[in-house]
Amino acid sequence: MRLDDDYLRELELAAIFALQRARDGVTAAVVATPHLAKPAPVIAVPRPVVVAPLRVVKPAAAPLTIDPARATHIAALTWEFFASDVAQCKACELCGTRKQSVPGAGALDATWLFVGEGPGAEEDESGEPFVGLAGALLEQMLLATGLKRGREVYIANVVKCRPPGNRTPSQNEAAACAPFLDRQIALIQPKIIVALGKTAVMRLTGSDDSMASLRGKTLTYQGIPVIATYHPSYLLRNLTEKMKAWEDLMFAKRVLAETL
Ligand code: URA
Ligand code: SF4
Repeated sequence: MRLDDDYLRELELAAIFALQRARDGVTAAVVATPHLAKPAPVIAVPRPVVVAPLRVVKPAAAPLTIDPARATHIAALTWEFFASDVAQCKACELCGTRKQSVPGAGALDATWLFVGEGPGAEEDESGEPFVGLAGALLEQMLLATGLKRGREVYIANVVKCRPPGNRTPSQNEAAACAPFLDRQIALIQPKIIVALGKTAVMRLTGSDDSMASLRGKTLTYQGIPVIATYHPSYLLRNLTEKMKAWEDLMFAKRVLAETL
């Protein structure tokens, strides 16, 4: 889907992320439309994020009906067979309504892993993650962080097949798909994971706490720092929260810098 300038301008999202990026000292000319870089009229100075000590929470619960042979098979998958394995998967009912699976995309040795919830209609059509409007906002968020899609970044979802009507995937669906996400993380070995929304946070860390209470904390997935932030679709519906997403990404950058 084309990045709709008028729509983003109306939402002031592009402008705000561009301005925040500039404030953060990222100077690369990555904003293609200069009018979007004009400061938005009301922009508060971001409040400092409280850096909480490293907190380890219990790992995500194992799926109740895991087939051990399937888990072993997926845990040994190479990239060569990963996407075709996902495409043939029938381990949960989402296989019955998908047009195609959306395994994930990006650099196979990415430093940053962004994990969303599951494909939407456009992703189901294209087979690529985050290509709809939420994807356009995610792209702005990446630019604000000094990142670019396809370089240093891998984008995945908790479930690889579209939940009908874009409903939240059930716990069982998330659990059934977990071996694929686990394998992706094992293959990529990212240095930092950004969990976009509660479904990803829950899958990766086992925490069911509110997003408000998790922000600014470093969670972990098998020793890899996990930063929780709002899902881009939520930000599109709740524009006042976008500043918080920017704070979370700046926090993630600091956490990454500390681990390198
Ligand atoms: N929302 C998601 O969580 N993932 C996508 O790939 C697209 C929208
Ligand atoms: Fe398989 Fe995951 Fe698709 Fe369910 S969502 S059918 S577990 S690939």
